Amino acid sequence: MISDIAPFKLAGNLYFIGTRKALSHLLVTSEGLVLIDTGYDYNIENIKEGIAMLGFDIMDVKHILHSHGHGDHTDATAELVKLTGAKTYLAKEDVKYIKGFTPDVYYTDGGVIKIGETEILCLFTPGHTEGTYSLFFNIEEDGKTYRVGTFGGASANRLKKDYYRRRYTHCRSYLLRGQFYESIERLKQEHVDIFVGNHAGQNHTQEKVALIGKTDKNPFIDPTEWPLFLESCRESMDKVILNESRTHFVTYAHRGASEYAPENTMLAFHLGLYMGANGIETDVQKTKDGVLVLFHDDTLERVTGEAGSIADYTYEELLAFCVKKGDLEDRIVTLDTFLQAFGWRDLTLAIEIKQPGFEKEVADMILKYDLGAKVMITSFQLDCLNAVRAYAPILRTGYLKGDFTDEEVQQLRALGIEELCPKAANVTAEKVAKWHQIGFNVRAWGAADEALMQQVYDALTDGCTVNFPDKLIAYIDTQKTDV
Ligand SMILES: [Zn+2]
Repeated sequence: MISDIAPFKLAGNLYFIGTRKALSHLLVTSEGLVLIDTGYDYNIENIKEGIAMLGFDIMDVKHILHSHGHGDHTDATAELVKLTGAKTYLAKEDVKYIKGFTPDVYYTDGGVIKIGETEILCLFTPGHTEGTYSLFFNIEEDGKTYRVGTFGGASANRLKKDYYRRRYTHCRSYLLRGQFYESIERLKQEHVDIFVGNHAGQNHTQEKVALIGKTDKNPFIDPTEWPLFLESCRESMDKVILNESRTHFVTYAHRGASEYAPENTMLAFHLGLYMGANGIETDVQKTKDGVLVLFHDDTLERVTGEAGSIADYTYEELLAFCVKKGDLEDRIVTLDTFLQAFGWRDLTLAIEIKQPGFEKEVADMILKYDLGAKVMITSFQLDCLNAVRAYAPILRTGYLKGDFTDEEVQQLRALGIEELCPKAANVTAEKVAKWHQIGFNVRAWGAADEALMQQVYDALTDGCTVNFPDKLIAYIDTQKTDV
């Protein structure tokens, strides 16, 4: 036998033919066999063998339904379609994940697929992927009707930041986390007698299989399991967010270590990293001759002592000026140089667009160095962020503002803005928890003193910009040793 779990009748006309790693379920109807998920490529042999062992014919597979697009649920489908000509079903949002076949049917939320005597209710429950669907149907056993339910994508692991970075090309939004929470709440409204997992651990498949025949009850029939499982999904998402706020907290050297070195210069950036910052925040403006440079103020006066603003000079002319801090000075640097110097490092870069009009150029520069996974484009001007999103939706955006009302938060979510950047003084643990539940990343700005910096960190945010990264890092170290 190929599978590590022998195929078996789960209840009524529902059978299990999966492996521990990739589950596949088989529904036997008067209109042929229905497969729910197929698994990795190599699962094809397991499915063939499993169907034969149960006494059915693989050529009778007429429909293949998928919970979501990930390879451990869909990779074997293309071969099965070639073999059987079965009709395939998936959400259109998940087509980007699949290979080798084009779905014949796209699910609709609340839609019912009728195959033979079985009516399958399809609920849109995104989060794990953009197009996860959960399926519900009745089966009959010993003259009784039982409701079978699935949560099409129940794992919070794929919503981790590390996974987002690795699979960045799929353009996964932090906001999927909020959708995951919403889906859990929606699914709690469904009554389920038989919870069918899409990984064996979820519904303790193997433990139940061991009980088959040993009691007079079918161990898979247990209406208490579904709500408990959904709650465990919520808890695991909570845990991911909480852990990441500590393990992935970004200390951004704000315009570099600008407390100690001329702001937005290579000197300040390198000093920030030397102090241990794992992120750099900087500002972009455009010169008279169209070069993107890193500079904060509207005028040159404060940090260079010169008259006018960035847009009044060519880059060549700006090179004659010095940015000063105490006895230190350095040149104004281009965005291009900055990305070349720091893009390859394991850092998070927050790039603030100071004025509208050159959003596409900034986006192009980030895309040129393939740095979408590491960069958050921020702005106090929502129009700038909308322009970036319209042009390059693969890039993440964060909105800088003093504070956010509930209404604003919902608007930003609808716009696909993934990060809220409130002023440090307005950050509370309650707000951060609420925003995390909606899916936002939360990074504060304006932590002007150590007390504010600590307040931001203690509120379980995801990051903070500081002029003195050494102090924040020292504080974080003290918190770690306390644990
Ligand atoms: Zn998955």
